[in-house]
Amino acid sequence: MRRTSIVQPIDEATLIELTQDAIVDQFLALEPDVLMGGGAQYFLPKGVPGGKRTDGRNLVDELVAGGYTYVADKAGLTAIDPTRVTRAVGLFNLSHLNYELDRGPTAEPSLAEMTTKAIDILSRNQGGYFLMVEGGRIDHALHATNAIRAVTDAVAFDDAIQAALDKVDLANTLIVVTADHDHTMVINGYSRRAGPTTPTSAGILGVVKDIVTGEPSRDAENMPYSVLSFGNGENRVAGARSTMPPLTDDVASAPGYHQEAGVKMGLESETHGGGDIMLMASGAGATRFKGTMVNTRVFALVKQALGF
Ligand SMILES: [Zn+2]
Repeated sequence: MRRTSIVQPIDEATLIELTQDAIVDQFLALEPDVLMGGGAQYFLPKGVPGGKRTDGRNLVDELVAGGYTYVADKAGLTAIDPTRVTRAVGLFNLSHLNYELDRGPTAEPSLAEMTTKAIDILSRNQGGYFLMVEGGRIDHALHATNAIRAVTDAVAFDDAIQAALDKVDLANTLIVVTADHDHTMVINGYSRRAGPTTPTSAGILGVVKDIVTGEPSRDAENMPYSVLSFGNGENRVAGARSTMPPLTDDVASAPGYHQEAGVKMGLESETHGGGDIMLMASGAGATRFKGTMVNTRVFALVKQALGF
């Protein structure tokens, strides 16, 4: 036993890396049958290209030695034969997975493709299974007040839910879809319906248009404004909005645009919101999820559905 310890100051970046290592360790202690996503740098030791672990362990090697099939790209995931593979780990990026908008065609699979393969593997377990799928970067794009990536990643998450619904039998499967919190993004009302966002139409990413005339609606300074904006975030003009170039559909729907905010914050520092969030449940036991509830209750209800 060590009886004394020396507390040394630790910088935030080091703390985050140690925490990420610990999160990976907690995941693996559970011995999941399937684990997929980004973050390979926290599985690999310093010295291996891209590795960040400080304890010298190479968890990819350890997982393979422990009987896991390891894949690192979309082709590898596609090649997994679920009739032969019972345990698989897929790490498709050293850091976070790319946003759906930036995801290339070959390196990273989509969230729906990962979900489909995970269910193909897990559903062969006669005892049933629990699968958690997270659209984890919707939150990141919202912190950056970059609505286009938030919305596109939300659509990718929606595709993953549909892929799951296409696979499972809802007579014996419960699907619960929810979020862990709100953000401060709002839809400014009284806009003409914009239709879907396409290469030639900004859709909801554009500026508010008058329902009758279709012309851009104006704020109190006679300036156009976007349908989506944030309570707080990095893009707030210093001074009057009338000093900025009039906002257009092309500007507001460009991939690099960050929506305007009411309160000025630092880069990527938009906050979570305090609004109630939605929870949708389908399938066996879905009727347990009714009304307004404290978020921690969801854990208890999922546990109950699993029979614990
Ligand atoms: Zn967040």
